[in-house]
Amino acid sequence: MARGVTPRRPSRTGRHERPQAALRLAKKFVSPASPERKRTTKPAAKAKSSKSAQYIPTSPARVNEILKCLDARYPGVTCALHHRSAWELLAATILSAQCTDVRVNMVTPELFKKYPTVQDFASATPEQIEPDIRSTGFFRNKAKSLVGAARKLIQDFGGKVPTDMEHLLSLPGVARKTANVVLGTWFKKAVGVVVDTHVTRIARRLEFTREEDPRKIEQDLMRAIPQAKWIDFAHQLIWHGRTLCIARKPKCAECPLENLCHAADKTWSTVPIHKTAQP
Ligand code: SF4
Repeated sequence: MARGVTPRRPSRTGRHERPQAALRLAKKFVSPASPERKRTTKPAAKAKSSKSAQYIPTSPARVNEILKCLDARYPGVTCALHHRSAWELLAATILSAQCTDVRVNMVTPELFKKYPTVQDFASATPEQIEPDIRSTGFFRNKAKSLVGAARKLIQDFGGKVPTDMEHLLSLPGVARKTANVVLGTWFKKAVGVVVDTHVTRIARRLEFTREEDPRKIEQDLMRAIPQAKWIDFAHQLIWHGRTLCIARKPKCAECPLENLCHAADKTWSTVPIHKTAQP
């Protein structure tokens, strides 16, 4: 018979087998009642349970450690968008989509000087506002959202920004992120968690979620983080994302969360890396 075609017989010692196969064979040759059997099965079961008890990314102990580190590193942080009223915050948040807060803060002083009230925005046309917000990008859509939201506020809410999620979401250009910013920052209501690009990236690196859809990420975060911390937590992650946990080359050696983070793209690590902890 040609070499390599001869049927192989299982090795009793496991010498020629891979470790897993050898272990299976060894178990097969030990009788269920024998002391050997007891010795080989019990530690394996124990090892399995202790392994699963070892690491749960959203365990209260780990979450609390992370929250403590964030509190220490970013005490009292809040929204970086300049504003003096709920309407200004709403308008600035609409402008901040796909744009930096720094850029929005350069645009809004002149914008709010030219259109000081909700009524002024409602009376304008999107085309009139476009040149004033051009540098924030997507300016045509943003101008439509600003004017549309202002008109809806005048028409349905007496010119006032609503204080609940459902009514905020009825405004043109307002999704959960914007509504959460306004509710959390201005009205101090923890209805949800702000999920922007920084929060998405860091929540995935810290294994609080594996989702990509912002609504699902928010749901995971609402389950993992105590409600009392929802507002601060989002602001802290946004600051963390701007200063240390940046998209490319995070500054892990300087990060206070380093020993709690197993992100696959860490630039420096003292703990095991988890391949699934992807941004
Ligand atoms: S250790 Fe690195 S990847 Fe993890 S949170 Fe800190 S900066 Fe981000």
